[in-house]
Amino acid sequence: MILTSPTPIDLNIGAIRQQFPILGRAVKDRPLVYFDNAATTQKPQAVIDTISQYYGNYNANIHRGIHSLAEEATAAYEASRMAVKEFIGAALSEEVIFTRGTTEGINLVACTWGRANIAAGDEILISGMEHHSNIVPWQILCHEKNAILKVIPVLDNGELSMTDYHNLLSPKTKLVAVAQASNALGTVNPVKPMIKAAHQVGAVVLIDGAQSAVHLDIDVQDMDCDFFAFSGHKLYGPTGIGVLFGKKDILESMPVFQGGGEMIKEVTFERTTYNELPYKFEAGTPNIADAIALKTALEFLNDLGKDNIRKHEAALLKYATARLETIPGLTIVGKAREKVGLVSFIIKGVHPQDIGVLLDNQGIAVRTGHHCTQPLMARFGIAGTVRASFAVYNTFEEVDALIAGLWKALKMLS
Ligand code: PLP
Repeated sequence: MILTSPTPIDLNIGAIRQQFPILGRAVKDRPLVYFDNAATTQKPQAVIDTISQYYGNYNANIHRGIHSLAEEATAAYEASRMAVKEFIGAALSEEVIFTRGTTEGINLVACTWGRANIAAGDEILISGMEHHSNIVPWQILCHEKNAILKVIPVLDNGELSMTDYHNLLSPKTKLVAVAQASNALGTVNPVKPMIKAAHQVGAVVLIDGAQSAVHLDIDVQDMDCDFFAFSGHKLYGPTGIGVLFGKKDILESMPVFQGGGEMIKEVTFERTTYNELPYKFEAGTPNIADAIALKTALEFLNDLGKDNIRKHEAALLKYATARLETIPGLTIVGKAREKVGLVSFIIKGVHPQDIGVLLDNQGIAVRTGHHCTQPLMARFGIAGTVRASFAVYNTFEEVDALIAGLWKALKMLS
């Protein structure tokens, strides 16, 4: 195969890899090749250290304590909220709510904003490439309220049909909920014009940023979305921590989500008054350690520069796509003009899971199956795909290993 491996611009990938202890391990006696980054990224040592420093030095419950440890923990937790505010370009830190992840953020909006604002006959518009976590909460809501779930069709190349989108929008549309980037196809959706069009019919817009926050520059004010949800673990941060951004006036008008400590101002047996934003939506002891470590992950991203990372991942995607296309019977699913760094494919006559197992035997981690997008798989008439998704620490040599691994797998299956 004669294809040059373009070396990325300003990044020293070898040095970056050194920051990820897990990349030094072997799997099945082979060096680990980790291409399951869209499911979760690996964590740099700095993120791991932040968690252990919190538990080793200043573990305390936040906000209510007056002792030093509580003050230190509270300051670090709130500093992380500020870092998130900067990261997504929010106007106010009150608009940043810590959640468990994207799924919880979407469910929060469905359970609070949704229950208060959706009525019988209203329409909720999602897209045909949504992750189950941006389908099921709206289905539950529609069922409860006798509302109607409508779906923007996906074109053969993996882009959304914008003609259909505009036709589906109407004054009945109360909410549009779409992914900025697809976890199964890699498609980047044109969310800014989509949000503008939705606002013109009076709809509120939630953007699922689970796959975009790590790759794209996020500016919620410029985008003008009403809600934006993402997960820390997909951007080099810990699991169990995520963020829901909401515009202040909308968040203020929303009923509370969970009841408990921290979300209250005053409680009597007769009635409760609720805390201000963002605490109103953060009932109970939050995931303090991981919220603090999320800031470290954002610093890791900012230090490398998202633009540099994007260029590297785009080069990996281009290289991988070209090499994959040389494999007989292989079809790439999702050929949108704009994609994040992931490639999904099927091979004629071969079950994706068999490929996954045979690659794993060679130390190569890919994801196989429906990627929590069963309706999208049905749209393409397939049960699932093999997906290789890239992160900043991946190399062109690893792509070569994937291609060699695939050839080997196919030989074994033939
Ligand atoms: N939305 C998209 C597009 C995703 O890719 C994922 C996870 O893969 C989610 C939502 C759910 O994220 P989490 O499981 O972190 O809540």
